[in-house]
Amino acid sequence: MNRFSYSKPQQVSEALQQLSDTGRFIAGGTNLLDLMKENVARPSQLVDINALPLNKIETTQAGGLRIGALVKNSTVAYHPDVERVYPLLAHAILAGASAQLRNMASTGGNLLQRTRCYYFYDVGTPCNKREPGSGCGALEGQNRIHAILGHSEQCIAVHPSDMCVALAALEATVHVSGPSGNRSIPFADFHRLPGDTPHLDTNLAPDEIITAVELPPRGFAENFAYLKLRDRASYAFALVSVAAGLELNGTSIGAARIALGGVAHKPWRCPEVEAALIGKPATEESYRMAADALLQGAVGFEHNRFKIELARRAIVRALSEAAAGVNAQ
Ligand code: SF4
Repeated sequence: MNRFSYSKPQQVSEALQQLSDTGRFIAGGTNLLDLMKENVARPSQLVDINALPLNKIETTQAGGLRIGALVKNSTVAYHPDVERVYPLLAHAILAGASAQLRNMASTGGNLLQRTRCYYFYDVGTPCNKREPGSGCGALEGQNRIHAILGHSEQCIAVHPSDMCVALAALEATVHVSGPSGNRSIPFADFHRLPGDTPHLDTNLAPDEIITAVELPPRGFAENFAYLKLRDRASYAFALVSVAAGLELNGTSIGAARIALGGVAHKPWRCPEVEAALIGKPATEESYRMAADALLQGAVGFEHNRFKIELARRAIVRALSEAAAGVNAQ
């Protein structure tokens, strides 16, 4: 049995002081408790952060939205400002997990959830993410759900979140606090590619805590789509997902955002591809060009090569739906 201590601080400063080197923060626990039950995570201490004052959604001076780290996923999805200005985010959240999980899962926790690679959860198999240097069971094993972009010889896992794909497309900012103060991390820099350090999922330091996620004013509410393709219709992680946002000038593209989920160790974006769409006609030909460019360099493995073509078609379909405004209220 893994014995651990438990505390429930009231303030962020207290929580930071209480956390030991082998301790973990816990909020909704929708991923950490699974990891503890499977012996993947064995913290000596749980610091329950549910009493911290991080559960508000507020409008920012810049005209965006600041979502506290403890706001539940379901609260975000049904918040009137999110539904009105950031429906892409609402759609992505509602495409993820089950209603029960969304009622428990926190905003900060969603960013920190760990991969669903089967070998990561099976302590009897090698996994460089769980145990650096032990090998990667997925490289030659069952790799249907694994990465086609940005992977390394050390790890081919994908980030499992839907919400993070939308946050990447919306260019959110992650606010964090630590012993040396507060800092802000652009969403694109928050998650990491595996490289030689697959045990590190994010650039959050072990002694830091997420306090909020901030959305800029631009929400792409008129022309957006969140397309999630998976093995069954509900309560499944994405094989491929696409968050797409467009601004149209008549029949041409004024601005574009495309983020992919289920294909890499982090939500996958390529600002150069988005920039190349500006001024192009909003047609399938333009979307195909973008899809080809986004997937340049994609490499699959024995069981997941189909994801390259699946992603190509998903990008074209998501951009077509976004341009048609089929999801706008
Ligand atoms: Fe572990 Fe990554 Fe390999 Fe999965 S893909 S077994 S998480 S190293």
